[in-house]
Amino acid sequence: MSSTTVKSNVGSYLELDQKGLVQVMYVWIDGTGQNMRCKTKTMDFEPQAPSDCPIWNFDGSSTGQATGANSDVYLHPVALFQDPFRRGPNKLLLCETYHYDHKPTATNLRKSCKAVMEKAKEEHPWFGIEQEYTLFDTDGHPYGWPKGGYPEPQGKYYCSVGTGNVYGRDIVEAHYRACLYAGIKIAGTNAEVMPSQWEFQVGPCEGIEMGDHLWMARFILHRVAEDFGVVITLDPKPINGDWNGAGAHTNFSTLAMREDGGLTHIYEAIEKLSKVHDLHIKAYDPKGGKDNLRRLTGRHETADINTFTHGVAHRGASVRIPRQCAEDGKGYLEDRRPAANADPYKVTEVVVRTVCEISH
Ligand code: ADP
Ligand code: MN
Ligand code: MN
Ligand code: MN
Repeated sequence: MSSTTVKSNVGSYLELDQKGLVQVMYVWIDGTGQNMRCKTKTMDFEPQAPSDCPIWNFDGSSTGQATGANSDVYLHPVALFQDPFRRGPNKLLLCETYHYDHKPTATNLRKSCKAVMEKAKEEHPWFGIEQEYTLFDTDGHPYGWPKGGYPEPQGKYYCSVGTGNVYGRDIVEAHYRACLYAGIKIAGTNAEVMPSQWEFQVGPCEGIEMGDHLWMARFILHRVAEDFGVVITLDPKPINGDWNGAGAHTNFSTLAMREDGGLTHIYEAIEKLSKVHDLHIKAYDPKGGKDNLRRLTGRHETADINTFTHGVAHRGASVRIPRQCAEDGKGYLEDRRPAANADPYKVTEVVVRTVCEISH
């Protein structure tokens, strides 16, 4: 194997008594809108809700979120999870970021998402996001690929088993269990079409919970990968050529779509989505559509970035209706356009704005 497993000596220390104190790791999205940061606070009780945890701050000039002369950025706790690394009473705490004047930072896309989800709450919007990602070695080469060359062409890797077919399963197993332990609504995992590419799904989640759970699942993935000396990339097209890219297919339904006769509502939603294709493409990667240009080529199970298409069971369409939903006459739709590195707060916000008719 190309990558060496990092041997950790921390285990025995983590068995030491923590004397009734609790470690709460505050986690946030930094100024890139893609990377995450964290730091830990000792608390003298076990918080049961985010509101039990104090607002905190950090040096925003070191994360691309403030200038050095006015560097304090506030952390507002929003979602609390069990810490699968420190275990015990310890927590992972997702936070929103605010400037000194209480305005959200440029990469705090949660605030506006939450307001929209609040407006749409009667429709009970549900999401399930399929997070695809790729494992890289620390030298920037895909994990397990022959150095200076390529593995056999795609075909045998998707959902595969066996040495030479599947790369890095230990990382996926560790992440899956860590997410279950943390309380993330992780729905499943599978090996992807490109070797060393994987997927996990989070959902169904209602409203703002989708972004909260997916971001924390991403954090846990990066943290698990540290223990294996492997790098996680969410780049939507990590390897050029005849290799699949990585998306964040977004499955969506409202209560009306899930009830009998829901298929009509699914087609109405598709009709609305078809009219604002460009607006959605702009929201579906962190570079306003530029990152997805490399991925949405009309090949490798994608639709061309410039054209909106839909179809039942059609994996070359922008939006797919799962075969089972078409047969049941109800269910959900799958928007296949979001890139793997999209911000789920942004994606879920625009979907709800369009489908539930809250102006953009
Ligand atoms: P695919 O066949 O595209 O690979 P997956 O099985 O990977 O689909 O993912 C499907 C996702 O859809 C899961 O995250 C699941 O939680 C989610 N999902 C299931 N039902 C609904 C629903 N009614 N509304 C929204 N999302 C849903
Ligand atoms: Mn999937
Ligand atoms: Mn997939
Ligand atoms: Mn899918």
